[in-house]
Amino acid sequence: MSRTFLGMPPFPEAAAVSTQNAQLRANLTHATHTIRDKRARAVTELDDWAQLRQAGQEIKDHTLRHLDHYLLQAEKAVTAAGGTVHWAADAAEANRIVADLVRATGESEVVKVKSMATQEIGLNEALAAEGITAYETDLAELIVQLGDDLPSHILVPAIHRNRSEIRDIFRDAMGRWGRPAPDGLTDSPAELAEAARLHLREKFLRAKVAVSGANFIVAETGTLVVLESEGNGRMCLTLPETLISVVGIEKLVPSWRDLEVFLQLLPRSSTAERMNPYTTLWTGTTAGDGPSNFHLVLLDNGRTDTLADEVGRQALRCIRCSACLNVCPVYERAGGHAYGSPYPGPIGAILTPQLRGLQSEVDASLPYASSLCGACYEVCPVAIDIPEVLVQLRERVADQAPGHRLERAAMKSAGWLLDHPAAYSAALRTASRARGLLPRRLPLPGPAKAWSDSRDLPTLPEHPFRDWWNSRPNGEDGPKHDDGKTGKDSAAR
Ligand code: SF4
Repeated sequence: MSRTFLGMPPFPEAAAVSTQNAQLRANLTHATHTIRDKRARAVTELDDWAQLRQAGQEIKDHTLRHLDHYLLQAEKAVTAAGGTVHWAADAAEANRIVADLVRATGESEVVKVKSMATQEIGLNEALAAEGITAYETDLAELIVQLGDDLPSHILVPAIHRNRSEIRDIFRDAMGRWGRPAPDGLTDSPAELAEAARLHLREKFLRAKVAVSGANFIVAETGTLVVLESEGNGRMCLTLPETLISVVGIEKLVPSWRDLEVFLQLLPRSSTAERMNPYTTLWTGTTAGDGPSNFHLVLLDNGRTDTLADEVGRQALRCIRCSACLNVCPVYERAGGHAYGSPYPGPIGAILTPQLRGLQSEVDASLPYASSLCGACYEVCPVAIDIPEVLVQLRERVADQAPGHRLERAAMKSAGWLLDHPAAYSAALRTASRARGLLPRRLPLPGPAKAWSDSRDLPTLPEHPFRDWWNSRPNGEDGPKHDDGKTGKDSAAR
């Protein structure tokens, strides 16, 4: 069973550890640079990329504005096509619905096609508590599950692992979950893929129940859409007797014409492919073709609250392409685990705190996990202005978090000092005289610790600038500093 993100430390603490991991940084730098370069080439092939991007943004905004209408339309269409729709307000309700549905089939195993929504609600762990084992079938998810690990990227959850690490995981763990890895397995991609294929084939042929997510739901026909590269998802979506799809309510698009836009935007932004290798679509049930029972669990879990925020709601446009992760300098260095949620990188920094709220230390730290360089906004295929949402969330953290009362008090004191020149000069002189006693770092207590722990104190000059300026005869250099340089030399450096 892969672990959950529960109990993860706030971003600054987690990143302070992960940035020291040279192997992780090397793996991430190699992978993200390769994908980002390929994506840039794939996007420049289309003359109308800017128009497509705008169309994607407008379709999503329109759908979100009329979500109540499109959700009911989708429910009616799914039901008419032989499916059953369930509404889940939060993670606990969604997990309970899925566990009850699986139990009703009499099965104790399910196969899963990669689904961020089920990671978000901790479905695997909830099913395990009911005695039901969930087998991940996406190759990267399989690596994460066998390695008792956590996903660290939206598209490539095992991006932090290199080939030899994956070979070791297959050798050690495959036998405990089913068919063992072949003897003498090397780290060649072909051998690793074959080992995974043989291991998973047994699961596909045995499973009676599958759990999936969906990239889109077409409201006019109630059709669900999954895009993937390996074909493992298609096995899950067609072979079992019962299919349970857990999908966030923001995944709707009104019509097939709208879907056309996203089928162009998503593959080029995510895997730099012109067209997605496997696009599976299903509408309710069809006699003699695919699962005979279909359940759609529509998940809210904080999305309605996010929709209520005029600035933050744009995060719900996200189509999970991961382009923003691959260009983010913070993600590249800190890695995905540091974000403490299945949604890492820039989109995680704005989506997670909106879905979960800003109460916990982990969630309050996420809006600060960015340099605000704006690279994420540039590449986003649905034009989510991530820096704008980050700044707005920082404002909310500053207003709500008790720790920021300290910051406000400090700013008030600084304001008084700057309003009283005599006191300000005296404070500067005292600080200059005490410069030899000052430590390199000044660890502040409480919430300010995260800030001061990662910053050196500036070296104070021997004389405050004002004193030096006032004592300096016209055209002459100021007093000598410790290093023998004059004030003029120092200023010119
Ligand atoms: S925020 Fe934009 S770039 Fe990032 S994953 Fe979502 S759609 Fe892709």
